Amino acid sequence: MILIGPPGSGKGTQAELLREKNSFVHYSTGEVFRDLIRRKTPVGLQVEKYVTSGGLVPDAVVLEVVNSFLAENAGKPILFDGFPRTIPQAEGLDKVLAAKDLAVDMAVLVDLADEEVVKRLTSRRQCRKCGKIYNLTFKPPKVAGICDDCGGELYQRKDDMEAVILDRLGTYHHQTEPVLGYYSAQAKLKKIDGALGRDRVYEEIVRLIGAA
Ligand code: AMP
Repeated sequence: MILIGPPGSGKGTQAELLREKNSFVHYSTGEVFRDLIRRKTPVGLQVEKYVTSGGLVPDAVVLEVVNSFLAENAGKPILFDGFPRTIPQAEGLDKVLAAKDLAVDMAVLVDLADEEVVKRLTSRRQCRKCGKIYNLTFKPPKVAGICDDCGGELYQRKDDMEAVILDRLGTYHHQTEPVLGYYSAQAKLKKIDGALGRDRVYEEIVRLIGAA
């Protein structure tokens, strides 16, 4: 299953819920890249400039990282979050899956208007240690700047600054929206209004999974 949506639409939060309650393997290419950057691996150094500027990592690099993940996890119920983000990535994924006699079952769009994206992301904070996501407006931590779960320090991602958010939105509209047409043509696209809020979006996704 694939979760698509503009940055800040709540894909990461939904993916976490689905992982905890429905035992999906959650694979977020954004999280993978942030981890490689933190660890200063060769791929991390290569992708850092794209991630911090809000641009897209080149398709070949993304597909290589995803292929090595699939080599170990294909066949499990996988939830892709933030991948595929371009048509070549969607085609690349279909090709690898087809070689293993597998296919994407469903692509879910969690949609959100640009103004709401900017509002949500400028107040988003993340734990440096465990990656948990907070929002200063909707879901603040109990103690300012500290993670409720692990006591780690909360920080603002560089790509959550307003100018970068606008670039990320532009990238989403130009490069990722065509992916919706790709899955719609295969009759695999489902749409959910991200403005419904965390719990109702989750219920809706669970309903779609049940129906599938
Ligand atoms: P995310 O956490 O999904 O918002 O991703 C953060 C950043 O990682 C994006 O702005 C891109 O620079 C990079 N990234 C994550 N996933 C992809 C992907 N599938 N294709 C290209 N770049 C990606």
